[in-house]
Amino acid sequence: MELITGTLEKVFEGTIWAEGPVWIPQSQIVRWSDIPNNRILEYSPESGQTREYATAVEFTNGRTLDRDGSVVQCSHGRRRVERDHDGVVSAIVDSFGGHRLNSPNDVVVAKDGTVWFTDPPYGILPGTVEGHEGEQEYGGCYVFRFDPATKELTPVVTDLVHPNGLAFSPDESVLYVADTAGPGRGSPFRVAAYPVGNGTCGAGRTFVELEDDKVSDGFRVDVEGRVWTSAGASVRVYAPDGGLLTAVDIPERVSNLCFGGPDGQDLYLTATTSLYRLRTSTRDTVRP
Ligand code: MG
Repeated sequence: MELITGTLEKVFEGTIWAEGPVWIPQSQIVRWSDIPNNRILEYSPESGQTREYATAVEFTNGRTLDRDGSVVQCSHGRRRVERDHDGVVSAIVDSFGGHRLNSPNDVVVAKDGTVWFTDPPYGILPGTVEGHEGEQEYGGCYVFRFDPATKELTPVVTDLVHPNGLAFSPDESVLYVADTAGPGRGSPFRVAAYPVGNGTCGAGRTFVELEDDKVSDGFRVDVEGRVWTSAGASVRVYAPDGGLLTAVDIPERVSNLCFGGPDGQDLYLTATTSLYRLRTSTRDTVRP
């Protein structure tokens, strides 16, 4: 069966650096970040229109749905993970051991409601246009698990240089995490895979290593456990064993993607200035 069944469509153009897409079933829209422009956009496939959802948003990046349908998103500027519940934005977590986080980048919510997110420094680096310059206060770039019930924040991955995109396998036995540090910062571009148990991660392994112009930033996992990832100016699909299943060139560098649309089988790509759509024969594990 073909995984990609339609041609590439550009549905919006006008961002500087598009990131953080999520499909919101309740309103049937794609919401995403235009990080340097410090705003959040929404595209409705029904109307074909894009609107500015919010401005002066403190440089939001990745986002996902919580179990109640509200949106959980990362804010570089506020250096926190936060919730947007019908437009009311509130903090979920912003510090680790009394130190501020770096600039949370991407986030997923597990079936038990715990919030797992990556914390590279891109929103606090010198000269950043994606946040505010600042210090790395706790001295690392970790992947964390936050338990809203106990308010406990636990580092679960501490051996990546710049952890970025992340996603669980369908049964949540594996956590995939991209490292976007690159060879210049001491790591190849790669996606690592960690066994998950008892709310933490075991020793990781390299799931796929990518070429220097094919950085994997953000990704999703479909119902069959295949990893759909940005890879430079392309999208790649990997089998659970790491084998490359298919790839599609995209005219611009892709940051991230999400499944959505009325039946969940449309893949939306945030790619630099534009939002693209690709029709697929599958969907992710988040209910449409
Ligand atoms: Mg990212």
